[in-house]
Amino acid sequence: MRIGFGYDAHRLVPGRKMVLCGVEIPCEFGPAGHSDADAALHALIDALLGAAALGDIGSHFPDGNERYRGADSLALLRQAYAMIRERGYKLGNADITIVLQNPKLAPHIEKMRETAARALESDTGKISVKATTEEGMGFTGSGEGISAYAVVLLERTE
Ligand code: MG
Repeated sequence: MRIGFGYDAHRLVPGRKMVLCGVEIPCEFGPAGHSDADAALHALIDALLGAAALGDIGSHFPDGNERYRGADSLALLRQAYAMIRERGYKLGNADITIVLQNPKLAPHIEKMRETAARALESDTGKISVKATTEEGMGFTGSGEGISAYAVVLLERTE
């Protein structure tokens, strides 16, 4: 078994789409970034790559590359997972925590789990998505940004 950890943060700006774990959240602001800025999936991708010691998201999908402008992070997740599979591993389970002051994410959690599970050819029982706030403290609390953490376990494919 291999364990991996990932972290990501993005600035929140008005008029940007908010996409988290591949699910669009109705909101008047969203994370700024070169790709779709899906902080939850970026943390998950980094955790997967980290578990396999395959570098990080920036080394595989550089944000200076025009190819990744507005990129769908679900597609990046699928590509990262394909690299994992090629090396003889599959997902054991993943646990993601999203830190965001507003809006409340509870109504979207199940869809996020299903969407991430589908991209990882897995089932929702192996994907946990949690949301929390930092109670008004720091950059997430002030609404300046969003952050996300992920841990994954990989298992050898037989
Ligand atoms: Mg990111």
